[in-house]
Amino acid sequence: MTATAPVTLKIGDTIGILGGGQLGRMLAMASARLGLRAQIFSPDPDSPAFDVVQASTCAEYADVEALELFAGDVDVITYEFENVPAAAAAVLAARRPVLPGRTVLETTQDRLIEKDFVTRLGIGTAAYADVTSAEQLRAAVARIGRPAVLKTRRFGYDGKGQAMIRDGDDLDRIWEELGTRAAILEAFVPFEREISVIAARSADGQVECFDVTENEHRDHILKISRAPAAIPDTLADEARRIAGAIASSLDYVGVLAVEMFVLVEAGGPKVLVNEIAPRVHNSGHWTLDGASISQFEQHIRAIAGWPLGKPVRHGPVTMTNLIGDEINDYSRWLTVRGATVHIYGKGVPRPGRKMGHVTEVGGPHSKGPA
Ligand code: AMP
Repeated sequence: MTATAPVTLKIGDTIGILGGGQLGRMLAMASARLGLRAQIFSPDPDSPAFDVVQASTCAEYADVEALELFAGDVDVITYEFENVPAAAAAVLAARRPVLPGRTVLETTQDRLIEKDFVTRLGIGTAAYADVTSAEQLRAAVARIGRPAVLKTRRFGYDGKGQAMIRDGDDLDRIWEELGTRAAILEAFVPFEREISVIAARSADGQVECFDVTENEHRDHILKISRAPAAIPDTLADEARRIAGAIASSLDYVGVLAVEMFVLVEAGGPKVLVNEIAPRVHNSGHWTLDGASISQFEQHIRAIAGWPLGKPVRHGPVTMTNLIGDEINDYSRWLTVRGATVHIYGKGVPRPGRKMGHVTEVGGPHSKGPA
């Protein structure tokens, strides 16, 4: 199979997955359920995804020989994280289809390029400005106002590479501490709630969105997702329309997540796009037990060139992340009525590390183990 041919995998074919974390692990498990094999590429010898596949490659993303061998072993390549180095993606794409494709990575690895892209589609975001110096930061704050959020353009996650700017803050010091020359200033959005849409698009343009999810963060890390989000149907339709428009405009193949803010204004509620994640997403983990098809299976179907599923939700669903030491409660969670426990098999439960999650379908959220 050449790198550009349309992909249609056969049962028994192999999916190459870049990244060996819990997302790679759950993608590999979804592949197995569909009779496909998965091979993981990850530089971390302790990757939890290695535990669920027969073949894996433990090498750096700069190791061209390892990338070439990996490409030779697999039929299509995908990834579980958006910061795949461009050079690695190019080596792989010369040999096998990499899905989602290169423009998707270029657009979503950089917050400024991503916001410009979303704005060009006529979709709302927080007001933002490109910032490359302390002087530009002062000008941007004067235009956008306070509070505002300063973010590195690249490599930010879970609130890392971000600083709030409030009244009286010293802009020179904040700029110095961010430690980059490529940043974006965003107006702080006084959101009513945060939501996300997990959407899938196939190579022939079919788009399927899961029900809109509502997300609660603690210390900048996702803690709880609930589906469906408690928002009016018209707003949910609009959120799904936005996710579909983004997927189509990127000529996307696979699953993506679009994180949004719900803002309530005099004219009624509206959504603003915060971020696009070109991959399966933590806020879609509820689909593993709460829907007829999970986001992981949907992604595998899309990149395999198989028909997308039309997901049906089984009822109200809550997903609770087990973060850091919370994993030590796993045996108590195992006894909670209606709960399904997912443990990622990671080693040390460092603070902030996502160690597992629990889904609860049908009833009100249980408030966790007693
Ligand atoms: P991000 O890394 O951009 O997804 O930001 C992480 C979290 O910080 C978001 O989920 C929000 O809770 C908060 N946040 C980020 N940007 C803004 C903003 N412009 N206004 C308000 N809250 C924000």
